Amino acid sequence: MPDNLSKLRQALIDRLLEEGAPELVGPMEACGRPVGLICTCCGENKEVKFHCQRRWCPECQPMISAQRIQRWSHAIQKLQWPLFVTLTMPNSTDPESIRHLKNAWRKLRNRKLMREKVRGGVATFEITNKGKGWHPHIHAVMDCRWLSVHVPEPLRTDPSHVVKQKCEWAQRELSSHWAECLGEEEAVVWVQRVKQVDSMAKEVLKYCMKGSELVSSPDPISPLLNVLRGTRMLAGWGSLHPLPSPDEEDQPSVECPNCNATKSFVPEEVAAFITRRQDSSQVGPYRA
Ligand SMILES: [Zn+2]
Ligand SMILES: [Zn+2]
Repeated sequence: MPDNLSKLRQALIDRLLEEGAPELVGPMEACGRPVGLICTCCGENKEVKFHCQRRWCPECQPMISAQRIQRWSHAIQKLQWPLFVTLTMPNSTDPESIRHLKNAWRKLRNRKLMREKVRGGVATFEITNKGKGWHPHIHAVMDCRWLSVHVPEPLRTDPSHVVKQKCEWAQRELSSHWAECLGEEEAVVWVQRVKQVDSMAKEVLKYCMKGSELVSSPDPISPLLNVLRGTRMLAGWGSLHPLPSPDEEDQPSVECPNCNATKSFVPEEVAAFITRRQDSSQVGPYRA
């Protein structure tokens, strides 16, 4: 639905201008315009769309999240014990609360529970607004066999009600750590053993705030976007930091359909510029 996305982008631009934040619009205005590319090996032409790459641009978000998934899912699929964890905090009127969320996350990762039980993983920081203030939260996939220091791991021979009880206790242990890190009385967490790594990876790696939610946000969005501008919204740690490089076959390669050269396409203006320089260097006085 490219039309809807471009309408959404325009609505977002209008809203940011209304809020007096033209610096947050920037190249978003030109997003979606056609750009001519030329193969530097054989001269083949093709047309692509310009993408502004702003994380909050509705037209770029599907591409940005596809790139994230491409970059991270191979690493996630190699985790031995993928565990999907969601950590929430109380809603806030202040978008700066996402910084508080990230500080609490750093504290949690330094606790014995995380240091001893989790090998590593990837976390995304997300913020939504459904009309009751900003709702920052974290989705993480962790490589973790059993996330508890105090509750013994369920045994194969345990009846299902015992397994359920142990899982509940373990979840409570995580939740009390998380509440302490946030400086709250209590905090809501969800823990889930991952069966389908593919769909879970998509859930974790999708964009941090939907363009449609931004446009319809009851609160001003420019303060939030200013916070997001200077902060990473996705971070690997432990065994996933640095991110292990993908296998050869996982790497995408853009080939020229005419001459099969890879990475040979450049924008037409760049090609014209290179040609001019080559021409002038041939007639220049310093050429031997
Ligand atoms: Zn864009
Ligand atoms: Zn070519």
